[in-house]
Amino acid sequence: MAINIKRPNGTEDVLPKDIHKWYTIEKIARETAESYGFGELRFPTFENTDLFLRSVGETTDVVQKEMYTVKAKETEFTLRPEGTAGAIRAMLQNGLLNEAMPQRIFYIISCFRHERPQAGRLREFHQFGLEMAGSSSPAADAEVISLAKNILDRLGLKKIELHINSIGCPACRAKYHEALRAYFEPRKDELCDTCKERLVKNPMRLLDCKSPEDREIAKDAPVILDYLCEECSDHFAKLKKYLDNAKISYIVDPKIVRGLDYYTKTVFEFITTEIGAQGTVCGGGRYDGLIEQLGGQPTPALGFGMGIERLLLVMDKQQCDYLAPKKCDIYFATMGDAALEKAMELVKDLREFGYRAEYDLMGRGIKAQMKYANKIGAVYTMVIGDNELNEGKARLKEMESGEEKEMLLNEKFTANFENEYFNKVLDVIDEENHSMFAFTGEDK
Ligand code: ATP
Ligand code: MG
Repeated sequence: MAINIKRPNGTEDVLPKDIHKWYTIEKIARETAESYGFGELRFPTFENTDLFLRSVGETTDVVQKEMYTVKAKETEFTLRPEGTAGAIRAMLQNGLLNEAMPQRIFYIISCFRHERPQAGRLREFHQFGLEMAGSSSPAADAEVISLAKNILDRLGLKKIELHINSIGCPACRAKYHEALRAYFEPRKDELCDTCKERLVKNPMRLLDCKSPEDREIAKDAPVILDYLCEECSDHFAKLKKYLDNAKISYIVDPKIVRGLDYYTKTVFEFITTEIGAQGTVCGGGRYDGLIEQLGGQPTPALGFGMGIERLLLVMDKQQCDYLAPKKCDIYFATMGDAALEKAMELVKDLREFGYRAEYDLMGRGIKAQMKYANKIGAVYTMVIGDNELNEGKARLKEMESGEEKEMLLNEKFTANFENEYFNKVLDVIDEENHSMFAFTGEDK
């Protein structure tokens, strides 16, 4: 039998040449979340399967069709299909919910869902997500939505719509479920098998069905907004007011129900039409019942998840700016063993200062070394041979301009190099504009 060691369908490799794109998203998301008072949480990739059954919900697509459940020595686990369940489990298990409220955490994680792979829909994908627990105020909803919007804005995304809806609380939903059942019952036989079951167990899930036939039937279904109780209706009205105050534009979209069962009241999505059907780059909402459902004290909470691969698709398409990829700052081309040893000595200090410094490890001739330096886009090069060693100085060449400058090969080398580098960055700012500084200067 042929051995297959290829990458599984629906997974991706990220190569060093593209990693700056991931760093850009992670850095901006992290910094924005921190500026809103969120701290990073790390938690396991797999959890007990029951955690997801209890939180995500047994009638959702995720649980019914998409979970990666693995058995290891009689114990069953599930690779997390989303972040909220594990994050809340960790907050509960570590007592965070007994501390000062609101508790605010964010995470950058991989998630696993057995879906049909296509652009923007993977089996292993990555999310930036966050959760806020303790506040039932619509101000918290506005805060979390504004945070998500801030990240998308700072990433430079354009043509993104914010869709919001309220799916009410269990009280208003009881009436709504009745209305949905009454609507779908006469056409029950035309529904897909999953939806037949949903009609009995969880009729709101019918609105989330991806089958075109079922969608057509659901087209004129009653909308939840007409069934909200007074409290839920007030909550939604206040949220809209806060968003208006913050000049965050939104579309009320009663079709959004979200793919996970734990949501209550506010749900929202940030959607772009730029990458086809997989246009939801961020989805979230309030889940006031979940913490209690997982064994904690009743605690209102909310959060969102952003698909990093989807963000990348949109950012590439819209040619958004990324942090500059790291380049080699200085490459030493060496002739002979003594020169190589000198280079080894010089890079030590440079690297400690954060520069990317390289020298030949392939035993190449000087011409081939320079060719390599060019290929990796070295900002500076320096040739060291016997002459340079004897004189204790060598020429630092700025590759773009070809300008050369003599530098002493002594203990001040790194300080002098830093001086040169800094002057070059200042020139770049003069020539281009100030925003360049953040991208090329800051991280060197
Ligand atoms: P969709 O309706 O697009 O399937 P969802 O409702 O299942 O999304 P959530 O569970 O809310 O998605 O996950 C939050 C975000 O994670 C989504 O908005 C999307 O950006 C991203 N995401 C979800 N599933 C995938 C996937 N299979 N591949 C890549 N990104 C995904
Ligand atoms: Mg989905």
